[in-house]
Amino acid sequence: MTTEKFLKLLSVPISLGTFAALLWLETRRPLRREVESKAVHTVRNLAVAGIAAVVLQLAEQPVVAPLTKLVERKNLGLLKIVPLPPLVETILAVALMDYTLYVWHVPTHRVPFLWRFHRVHHADLDLDASTAVRFHFAEMTISVAWRAGQILLIGVSPVSFAAWQMFLFPSILFHHSNVELPLELEKKLRRFVVTPRLHGIHHSIIKDETDSNWSSGLTVWDRLHRTLKTTVPQDETIIGVPAYRRPPEVALPKILAMPFGEQKPDWQPLDASRRNLPKN
Ligand SMILES: [Zn+2]
Repeated sequence: MTTEKFLKLLSVPISLGTFAALLWLETRRPLRREVESKAVHTVRNLAVAGIAAVVLQLAEQPVVAPLTKLVERKNLGLLKIVPLPPLVETILAVALMDYTLYVWHVPTHRVPFLWRFHRVHHADLDLDASTAVRFHFAEMTISVAWRAGQILLIGVSPVSFAAWQMFLFPSILFHHSNVELPLELEKKLRRFVVTPRLHGIHHSIIKDETDSNWSSGLTVWDRLHRTLKTTVPQDETIIGVPAYRRPPEVALPKILAMPFGEQKPDWQPLDASRRNLPKN
């Protein structure tokens, strides 16, 4: 069995195991009070994720597989300029994929056309492990073009790509989860990786808070760009997008249709004070 196949196989039980463990922990030690029923919310998010997974399989696989092989064959990209030991090359590739995902995350908020799709992820009224996989299928499809650029620029081999995915999935499940870790442990972890409290700030309905903590794996990128925010208590954080605060507005058909048609001004209905939010 090739290393690539082994990593791909290994990432299935790791991701499923992480998801199951987080779901269990979310019922034992919730970090934020939930707005919607956990069952309704989870089933809806898994439905969005299921559609996105099918589309991604059809759109990404035919691009990623040949491109990573091309990188390997023709020594394309930054990491192929100088010969590196395979392990070093893989570690650097995972780090650079993580950084360029940070770079991609910012325009998904700032460019209105991209925000239409990324907003589906943010309009969730609760933030938990199921939100981690709730991405609109069109956002997933558009991101394939970015992925292709990442692979060619960095020089990501098939093994490095599989290693990045093995790192990324548990990471996004973890930092989206609604698990209250002991504060001291979380403080230690966030020196290196994104934690549930940090990412909760990125999902806040306060625009200034959403515009922080963009990293998807390592926190070093937010530190480098001075976008790390740690000082917002989770019991004060309200999750979501101000224009979509009522559960009927975020029902499955509504969120699938959300990127298309007329767009509501997302942040305007919000008063400067959290206490003046429109009640559901
Ligand atoms: Zn975001």
